[in-house]
Amino acid sequence: MYDVKGQLKKVLDTLPDGVRLVAISKYHPNEYIEAAYAEGQRIFGESHEQELRQKHTSLPQDIEWHFIGHLQTNKVKYIAPYVTMVEAVDSLKLLKEIDKQAERCGRVIDVLLELHIAEESTKYGLRLDECRQLLSDGEWRQMKHVRICGLMMMASLTDDQEQLRREFLTAADFFDEVKQQYFADAPWFRERSWGMSDDYTVAVECRSTMVRIGTMIFGPRVY
Ligand SMILES: *Cc1c(COP(=O)(O)O)cnc(C)c1O
Repeated sequence: MYDVKGQLKKVLDTLPDGVRLVAISKYHPNEYIEAAYAEGQRIFGESHEQELRQKHTSLPQDIEWHFIGHLQTNKVKYIAPYVTMVEAVDSLKLLKEIDKQAERCGRVIDVLLELHIAEESTKYGLRLDECRQLLSDGEWRQMKHVRICGLMMMASLTDDQEQLRREFLTAADFFDEVKQQYFADAPWFRERSWGMSDDYTVAVECRSTMVRIGTMIFGPRVY
């Protein structure tokens, strides 16, 4: 088995105070998650509803599951009873559906708004103007069963450190703008979810509060 324990420790040792780790366990078996859990890791991220459902059912109930992938509205009802955070909300429609399903479960679900800043056209997420529009429309203010806790983004797939830095800092500046304009009195609006295995050291220099790391902890995924 891959050295999950050693790799987890390596990652945790390099994270500054105030940056939390979401261990991205998609495509990895339960025993890998259990190995990280045994070391104290409690936040795990998955990107497929069925896989998440199976893992949630069979693993310790105090794991906090983050849904990190693109979430179809028709899948929300399945994860609403137990998911801790939906990280990649990229439309008002999805936000509304999470609110509706959370209400049915008598819960409040934490969410992040996903930004599209990277150059790749295939990535999901709201462009900055779309995100401004969603917030200024104000419909989210009526939603009592979602709590918008911050922003999430994926940077471009590149080794160019300066480009990565530009993208993360664009997100960080945008966070400040939105915080000041809409969430100044909302202490829970504080998360900046950026940084993955290949770029998290740059991300934490650019004010990330939450890194989503899979490969570096669990090894390559077998699809
Ligand atoms: C898979 C995934 C990650 C983790 O990527 P690694 O390169 O394995 O660290 C992070 N965020 C999202 C949204 C992902 O889908």
